Amino acid sequence: MVNSLKNIPSVDELLSDHRVQDHLQKYQRTFVVQLLREAIDAARTRLRLSDSEVDRSQISAWICQDLQQRIETLTQGTLKRVINGTGVVLHTNLGRAPLSKTALNYLHEMGTFYNNLELDLEKGERGSRYVHVEELLCRLTKAEAALVVNNNAAAVLLGLNTLAQGKEVIVSRGQLVEIGGAFRIPEVMKLSGALLKEVGTTNKTYLRDYAEAIGEDTGLLFAAHTSNYKIEGFTAEVALSDLVKLGRDANLPVMKDLGSGILFIPPSCGLGDEPTVQQCVEAGADVITFSGDKLLGGPQAGIIVGRKEYIEAMKKNQLTRALRVDKLTIAALEATLIEYLAGFPEKNLPVIHMLSLSSDELRQRAERLVEILNAAIGKQALLQSISMVEVEDMVGGGAYPTYRLPGYGVEIKFQDLKLETVAACLRRQDPAVLTRRQEDRMLISVRTLLEGDAAILAKKIYQVLHDLEAKAQKGVQH
Ligand SMILES: *Cc1c(COP(=O)(O)O)cnc(C)c1O
Repeated sequence: MVNSLKNIPSVDELLSDHRVQDHLQKYQRTFVVQLLREAIDAARTRLRLSDSEVDRSQISAWICQDLQQRIETLTQGTLKRVINGTGVVLHTNLGRAPLSKTALNYLHEMGTFYNNLELDLEKGERGSRYVHVEELLCRLTKAEAALVVNNNAAAVLLGLNTLAQGKEVIVSRGQLVEIGGAFRIPEVMKLSGALLKEVGTTNKTYLRDYAEAIGEDTGLLFAAHTSNYKIEGFTAEVALSDLVKLGRDANLPVMKDLGSGILFIPPSCGLGDEPTVQQCVEAGADVITFSGDKLLGGPQAGIIVGRKEYIEAMKKNQLTRALRVDKLTIAALEATLIEYLAGFPEKNLPVIHMLSLSSDELRQRAERLVEILNAAIGKQALLQSISMVEVEDMVGGGAYPTYRLPGYGVEIKFQDLKLETVAACLRRQDPAVLTRRQEDRMLISVRTLLEGDAAILAKKIYQVLHDLEAKAQKGVQH
C-alpha cells in the first residue's frame, strides 16, 4: 500500500541494524550499501503493489532478507560445480575434460608463484612461452614442430591465415562441418582471409575432385574431421595419405583439422576406429590441429603439430599474439602430456580413466550407488524404486558420434512426481546434479561420477525429495 512507503527505513538506519552490520564485518562497505539500496528499491516496488499496510519492522525484515540473498548470489560466483550423471564423458556444456591431480598441482604452483614462462634460465635471456610443451608434443606425435594456442578454433584460424591468406583452400563438401558453439568451417575460412573452394558432393568426394580443382590460386588442401556426425551408406572420402600424395605432387601443403586429438586409445574401451594424432602425422599431413580439452583430457587449448617451416611461420604471425595461451594452460597441458609420455594415462587422466573402466568395475560402482541411495532415500514417500540398470554412455566432445559405450547406472522412479520437477530441483542444487532421462525414469550413469560425487548426489536427492514432500503436504493442508 502506498501508505506504507513512509515506513521504509533509511539507509543509515538499516546500516546500524545488526543483520546489516554482520555483512559489514565480511564485505566492503560500498558493496553492501549498493546492494542495500537495491533491496530498498525492491521493497518500495513491492509496497506499491501490495494491498495491505506493512509496518516498519516487517519492511526491515524484507530488506535484510533480500540483502542477504543479493550478497550470496553475487559472492558465490556463477561457475558452479556440477555432478555429471549423464554418462557423457566430454560434455562441452559441463566444461569438457576434468583435469588430473598432477595437472592441478602444477597449475596451482605456477599460479601461486612467479615462473619462467618467457625466460630462458640457462642464458638469462628472454625466452619463448611456446618452448614449454613443444618437445613433449614432438616426442608424443613424432611431428617436427608444435605450437599451442587458445583453442582448436584458433588453431584452424591461424593455420588457414598463415598458409592460405588470399589463396584458395580446397575442401570436400562432405566436410564443411559446424561444431557446437558456432564453429563453422566456411565462416572460419572467411575470417582467415582464405577462399573456400568446395569440391565433391555431400556424400562422395574423390581424389580426382581435388586434383581437378587445383589451380594457380590454390594455397592449401584442407581436411576436417567430421567429428559430430557420420555420413553412412553410399559414401566416399579421400584417405589423408592420398590427399598428402596429391599435395606433394602439386607442391601444396595439406592441413587436417582433427578436432578431438587422440594420443592414446585405452585398449579396454573398444574405441578404435578414429584416427590418432600419430596416424595423421605418419600419413604425412603438414599441419594437424586438435583440441586440448577433448579426448586428450587436458585444459582448453588448440594444439598444432606438423612441419617445422609451417609452424615457424605461424609463430611469426601477428595473430598468434592474440591467440596465445597463458601460463595456467601451459602448466596443465604440460602435466597432462607428461602423463602420456611417462606416466599412466588410464589411471591418472580422468577422461581416459572414465573411458577405460571395465564392465565389472562399472557394475560394482552401480551396485554401490544403489546401496548409498537406498540408505539415503529408501524411506522417502515420493520414491517408488531404485534399481541398477545397464546404460549406454557416450564419449561426447565431438568424437565417436555414433558410438555407445556399454555402462551401468541407477534408475530411479518416483511416486506422483513429474520427472522434470525433480530434475529441475536437482539442477538448482549446489553442487548442481545433472541426470539423464528415459521415458518416466531418471537415470544416473556411474561412469561420469567423480571422487566424492556419489555421497553428495545421495544427499542432494534426499534434500530435493524432502522439500518436495514438505511442499506437497502444505498443499494438502491449504
Ligand atoms: C571441437 C572441434 C573444433 C573446435 O575446437 P575447440 O577446441 O572447441 O575450439 C574444430 N574442429 C573440429 C573438427 C572439432 O571437432
